[in-house]
Order: sequence, then C-alpha cells, then structure tokens
Amino acid sequence: MNKQIAKEFEVKGQKFTLIDTPLFKCVRSKEYNYDFDKKTGYFARWGKTMQDDPQFSPAGFEIWDCEATTICSGMTSKVLTEQKVPTEQKVPTEQKVPTEQKVPQGNYSPCRFCYKANNLKGKNLSFADFKTMIDKMSNRVLTQVAFGADSKAESNPDLFKMMQYCREVGVIPNITVSDVSDETIKKLCNVCGAVAVSRYEDKQICYDIVRKLSEGGLSQVNIHSLLSLQTYDWCMETVKDIAKGKVPGLNAIVFLSLKKKGRAKNNFDSVSYEQFKSLFLWCMENKISMGFDSCSASRFMKLVTEEDSIEKEIKKKYIQSCEPCESGLFSFYTNVDGDYFPCSFTEKENEWKNGLSLLNCNNFYEDIWYHPKNENWRQRLIQSGCKDNCRKCLTFPEIN
Ligand code: SF4
Ligand code: SF4
Repeated sequence: MNKQIAKEFEVKGQKFTLIDTPLFKCVRSKEYNYDFDKKTGYFARWGKTMQDDPQFSPAGFEIWDCEATTICSGMTSKVLTEQKVPTEQKVPTEQKVPTEQKVPQGNYSPCRFCYKANNLKGKNLSFADFKTMIDKMSNRVLTQVAFGADSKAESNPDLFKMMQYCREVGVIPNITVSDVSDETIKKLCNVCGAVAVSRYEDKQICYDIVRKLSEGGLSQVNIHSLLSLQTYDWCMETVKDIAKGKVPGLNAIVFLSLKKKGRAKNNFDSVSYEQFKSLFLWCMENKISMGFDSCSASRFMKLVTEEDSIEKEIKKKYIQSCEPCESGLFSFYTNVDGDYFPCSFTEKENEWKNGLSLLNCNNFYEDIWYHPKNENWRQRLIQSGCKDNCRKCLTFPEIN
C-alpha cells in the first residue's frame, strides 16, 4: 500500500521529479510544481515561489479529456413528451425548447443541444488505442482522464477497461453521464474519482443518480447544467431544489456555458449578462456550492470585479479560485480517432480543422506538446489574458 515511485526526467533541458503514490501525485522542478490528492481531487500548482502561477505545464498536460465514443442514444430511461410533462416542470412558453426536437420514434432521444451531435451511428475508441496513447506519455504528470462517453456509459464495451487501466498507471478516471443504470452506477463507484451527472428534462433522473452515486461511496458527484437561454429555467429550478435539500449527495453544481457547435448551433442562445449575474448572486445568497466551466471565466471575473454587493475578501477568494481556459496549457482533448485538439470545442474549428495524431505520433513532446501548431495556440491563448489576467476563448469570442 505504501508503494511510492519517484521518477526523474528532463524535458527541453528542464529537470523534473515526479512522485506517484496510491494517495497523491506531485511534481517538483524549478518553475513548475504541483500537488494532487487522488482521493479528494485537491490540486495546487505553483511556480518558482508559492505565489507564482506558471503559464503552462512544461512537462506535459495534467488533464486529458478523452472521447471514448460518439455513439449515444440520449435520454431514454424516461422520455418525456409534451403531454407527459408534469405541470410544475413545464418550460415557460417564451423559453420553450424547439419543437422539431420532439422525441422521435422508438426509444431514441438525441439531446437537442449536443455540441458533438452524437447519435446512434458513431464510433468507439478501442482499449488498444487508448493504451497506446496513454503509454506514449511515459513521464506521467497526467492526474486525471475525463472520459467523454454516452448518456448511459454503455456504448463502448472497453470503457471500464480503460478506466481500470488508468488506475493501474496512477491516473484517476472521471466521467460525465446522465442516464445510467444501477449496475453501471456500481461500476462507476468502484473505479471513478469523480462523476458528473448532466441535468436534462427530467430533473428526478439526475437527482436519483446523484444520490445513488453518493450512497455508493463517491464524494465527488457534481451536476452539470448547460447555461443557455433555453435551459435557464432548469438551472434556476435545480439550484432552488438544492437549496431545499432535494438533491442529497451532491458536491456542487457546475454551469457550462453555451458554445454554438453541433446541434447547439442554431436552436440555442447564450444567457444575457444580467441573467448570468442573477443566477450567480442567487447561488451566493443561498450558499449553493457551485462553479462554472473555465469557458465562463471571462464573464465571471467581470461580474466579481464589478459587483458592489460582494465583500472585498470574498471577491479576492473568487478571483483566486477562477481558472480561465487551460486548453493546450494544462489540459487537452483527443477525439475517438486519437487526434489531439486543445479542447473538445476546438475540434474542426478554424486552425483546428485537423488535429495532431497522438495515436500515431513518435514523440509526445515533439509531435504534440511542443508542436509548432500547439505552441502558436498556446502563445496566443496566454497573450489573450495579458491585460486582465484572464485568458479568453480564441474559438468562440462571443462567450468572452
Ligand atoms: S449531450 Fe450527451 S447525452 Fe446528449 S446526445 Fe450528446 S453525448 Fe449523448
Ligand atoms: S478554447 Fe474556448 S471552448 Fe475551449 S475550453 Fe477554452 S474557452 Fe472553452
């Protein structure tokens, strides 16, 4: 149980020491250091001094967003049609979800806002390809793999084998689901460090899964809620339910900003700054444990800086905890074909029409992490935050 592996390695002339134990992982070097608690997910990064904040990880990425499948049947457990929606859950008329998206025949209900546009005709990443990729990063500063799967975590028969392999090599597997069976919940509790449950039409499906995951022993169970004009009422409804104690076992609710991509491109709109602000202030007043994705950092910083009702000390705390976009700096994404992109939203956009093949590369550092295309991205992303210390989205400027 006290197995501890210390490894020394060098990247681009910089020396690093990596210590990996069953309970924690840490990296030490002159300018880049971190501590990661594998049980609680606590993570702290610093540079030359504890006050320094490194601009990127020179030793490779910390978080890998790995697409394991593009096959998804959406929410099928309890598909709600217009007639079946209980009165108190109805979406108000002015924000009604688009009607052409009604549940199609059979038991297949693709989500209207799926930015990946996943459906039944997708592909799976094989265990062999996953292993090839993770093994290429022999200096494993990687702390977590966030698997991108289907609503039920059932499309890819190799998914749990990949998660188990993560554990074997000292990396924590995480996942987002929305419609999992009791059997899958047990398997997730056995292997995952954290699980996020997406909140869709039927809030009770989400709340029940959160409760069961927590009863199964997971302490890091979050709700992911898409923050858009059309789903704003769901966000408000969920935070009110949390305040009333109707979501036992929940760690936090995380709001994900809308990126106009895939099926979310045409039928969904971003919330106004005023709506963003009132949701945040409501959560603050009601002591809701909540967070935003890093794509929301720009709005969040503006709000916290400008809002007079937030006390100075609390402002400072919020600003310190705000992590702007880290894609290509500390985290990255691979699609089901093993191609690298800074994040899943950048795939096939602008200069990232084509990714870099992690699966077929010879040298992770030369061919991916320090590839000129990635270096160029990284410099521009770092520069975008020079003025106000908050990096901006380079791909969807409208969210900044
Ligand atoms: S949003 Fe998630 S659950 Fe819905 S179709 Fe896409 S991948 Fe599946
Ligand atoms: S590049 Fe844009 S969409 Fe991707 S993680 Fe960063 S802010 Fe979000």
